Amino acid sequence: MENLKISSKDIAYNLVHLPQLVFEVTDACNLRCKYCGYADLYEGYDKRENLKFPFHKAKLLIDYLHVLWQENECGGVVEPVSIGFYGGEPLLNVPFIEEVIAYLEGLPPVGKKFHYNMTTNAMLLDKYMDFLVEKEFRLLISLDGDKEGQGYRVDAAGRNSFDRVFANICLLRDRYPEYFDKFVMFNSVLHNKNSVESIFHFIKNTFGKEPSISPLNNSGIRKDKVEEFQRTYRNYAQSIREATNCEALKTEMFIKEPGTKLLLDYIYNESGNVYYTFNHLLNSSKHLSYSPPTGTCTPFSKKMFVTVKGRILQCERINHEFALGYISDKGVELDWDKAAQQHNGYVFRYERQCRSCAHRKACSQCVYQIDDIQEETTKCNSYCSDKQAEQMNTYCMAYLDRHPELYRRILKEVVVRG
Ligand code: SF4
Ligand code: SF4
Repeated sequence: MENLKISSKDIAYNLVHLPQLVFEVTDACNLRCKYCGYADLYEGYDKRENLKFPFHKAKLLIDYLHVLWQENECGGVVEPVSIGFYGGEPLLNVPFIEEVIAYLEGLPPVGKKFHYNMTTNAMLLDKYMDFLVEKEFRLLISLDGDKEGQGYRVDAAGRNSFDRVFANICLLRDRYPEYFDKFVMFNSVLHNKNSVESIFHFIKNTFGKEPSISPLNNSGIRKDKVEEFQRTYRNYAQSIREATNCEALKTEMFIKEPGTKLLLDYIYNESGNVYYTFNHLLNSSKHLSYSPPTGTCTPFSKKMFVTVKGRILQCERINHEFALGYISDKGVELDWDKAAQQHNGYVFRYERQCRSCAHRKACSQCVYQIDDIQEETTKCNSYCSDKQAEQMNTYCMAYLDRHPELYRRILKEVVVRG
């Protein structure tokens, strides 16, 4: 089992090949969305203090990574690195973004090609669109559908942000149609003021794009807010079943439709042919009964997220208490050994359950999203017994019998990426 644990070498490898570096540009926001991770439904996040990421700290981090990249440069190989700007609302701190990009682009080449992405509420899009277009930002716009659907995305005075956001998006589409076609995407949050059907049709019919639709994050809910959360929450699969023409919507949404997802998970879990890394593939014959523990990514294999206060995390979707290091005024404090040990400590906490879990070969559960991870008696809620797995197999085979065309489309159209 020891060789399934990670070490400082894995951390170093991941930093050298870091695919994404994401800055929390500011914790300030010009909206007060009721379901925001920083609003009072959730716990475990630093309170908003209207902070802005100081450029000198970003420079310290970029220099730290640049040295590693330079030392490990492979002649002729150019790896893409996605630089993400996250908020709060990132367009409230554009000078920082401009400085970071200018600095990155002024560094001696080290076999990395940078491209940029941002998630924005589009409130200030009219002011900054020229810059975003010039730098070919991949833009993810948060829009919960039509005016009614946008009802939780309100400004400081409690007014629905729809009119301004919608006008700004139309302006971008009309002024830069090619950019809009190629680089703009939409993300919508599902809740009790909209539905999968209303979101999908509004965005498809108005902008010709298929939005990604996410349910409210259901981990880290404050104990005293559970009822409020339940009132606001809408279940994705249920929302599709309630559509006026459910089959037509399912066909349009093919890949995102829960039935497809279920089958994909089934194929993923049962094919016995899924490997996370080359090491996993090479070692797997020795560990067929248990490999690898949980579906948690190893630190920095997917991304590095740095909070406005300088905490270094492995992604933005986990509580800040899981920080692995930080940026002080003097430099980057990231002890690779300690980071590896901390990660192993959390991931192997579930070892006993994982050993007998039917998902053990291809688990997709991130331990950092298990609510009571800090408690002694912590249990993985995604644990699947052999009996449950058998029921799921029977259900999936029956579903496939009813939808043979689905299997053909999955084989033809779906690419599973690690
Ligand atoms: S949610 Fe967990 S597994 Fe997913 S990127 Fe974040 S840390 Fe990794
Ligand atoms: S679902 Fe939970 S118990 Fe099962 S393998 Fe994944 S982390 Fe372990």
